[in-house]
Amino acid sequence: MVENHKTYLNAGLAMMMGLLNFDKQFVRAEGVYVWDSDGNRYLDFLGSYGALNLGHNHPRILAALDRVKELPNLLQASLGTLPAALAKNLAVITPGNLQRSFFCNSGAEAVEGAIKLARAATGRPEVVYCDGSFHGKTMGALSATGREKYQKPFRPLLPGFSPVPFGNLDALEAKLKEKTAAAFIVEPIQGEGGIIIPPDGYLAGVRQLCSRYGTLLIVDEVQTGLGRTGRMFACQYEEVTPDIMCLAKSLGGGIMPIGTYITTDETWKKAYGGMDRALLHTSTFGGNTWAAAAAIATLEVLYEENLPEKARENGEYLLSALLGLKEKYPLIKDVRGRGLMAGIEFSQPGGLAAKASFGLVNKLSEEYLGSMVAGELLNKHRIITAFTLNNPNIIRLEPPLNVTREQIDILLDALEDIFSSHKGLFSMAAAS
Ligand code: PMP
Repeated sequence: MVENHKTYLNAGLAMMMGLLNFDKQFVRAEGVYVWDSDGNRYLDFLGSYGALNLGHNHPRILAALDRVKELPNLLQASLGTLPAALAKNLAVITPGNLQRSFFCNSGAEAVEGAIKLARAATGRPEVVYCDGSFHGKTMGALSATGREKYQKPFRPLLPGFSPVPFGNLDALEAKLKEKTAAAFIVEPIQGEGGIIIPPDGYLAGVRQLCSRYGTLLIVDEVQTGLGRTGRMFACQYEEVTPDIMCLAKSLGGGIMPIGTYITTDETWKKAYGGMDRALLHTSTFGGNTWAAAAAIATLEVLYEENLPEKARENGEYLLSALLGLKEKYPLIKDVRGRGLMAGIEFSQPGGLAAKASFGLVNKLSEEYLGSMVAGELLNKHRIITAFTLNNPNIIRLEPPLNVTREQIDILLDALEDIFSSHKGLFSMAAAS
């Protein structure tokens, strides 16, 4: 019996699970599976929001950590051999001449570092970001996060940050002309924002505009990177090389916390070249031995198990099956995705019918089909997904990249069961 200490936690996610009427604790995990304290097995189709591209507790990561047990855990990355090897491997696998890595402990820190690097390299203060974006919740990253809900309680944020609509090149060009910005920061696909995919050619157009106006392009691949979208990096779909790329989440194999930004030698030197500038941005635990060992093994596994390609193939299979469900059930407003980063969006069902049918009793479930479906997937079918906070009518799917066709079929059968068992609810015409 696991004692329940949750009330001592300051845990927003525990609250979210509460909204899904889930009160169990997870005690064991392996691959795509997680077990609760009653011994029930769950399929993890959320993968810690894209942090588990390799699945839970991948044996190669555990073995890599075992091997470094006796190495000094140097907390100044530049003194360790493993961080240097990791930096070299990242330089090899990232596009273009990205070759200087700065290691830290999370996605938000990678973004903080990227913003500081851009300001220091250009001498310009302005940063442009996208509406609906998500780059993390520390003050600098939050200043570039285009979400009123997350920003509002913490104002004033950093000066010099201005938003543009996501996916719109004209608006970006007007802003870059007006602001002479240090950087434009963008996600190739907005993940937290609800799996929003920009029009084809957007990122390539962004690259051209940034080059034209001398603005550094920061591509935030914290969620899309490391195979998630079916290529090693999502920016490779449009053959774009950013000036700065941010990575985190899956980089530590889902076990060790590690984030990084990678930039060119030229940008790096402009910002931090010379002894007087060398220590302007550092982090004690950044690139420590354990995190670096996990990350080196992660990159090896991604290639050896061919995970980006698997994500592409299985992502196509998943998306076409979801499109089939959309044809059949009009209350599915949209399905979208690339690789194994997918979203299902529902229309508002007209509250009462859905409430009566699902019979859940919390505030969100009275109003949003997405949260109702996620709740039933979890509690009835034992499949972990999540709804997005800015629109709980959207469900996010980001399973480990080694998920099998059979496991995807289990999810699809569960969705079909939910859509067909609610007495015609999902076949209703959408309200709008
Ligand atoms: N950037 C993106 C694109 C993200 O999705 C996230 C996390 N969801 C972050 C940055 C922040 O990462 P972290 O939670 O590790 O700070």
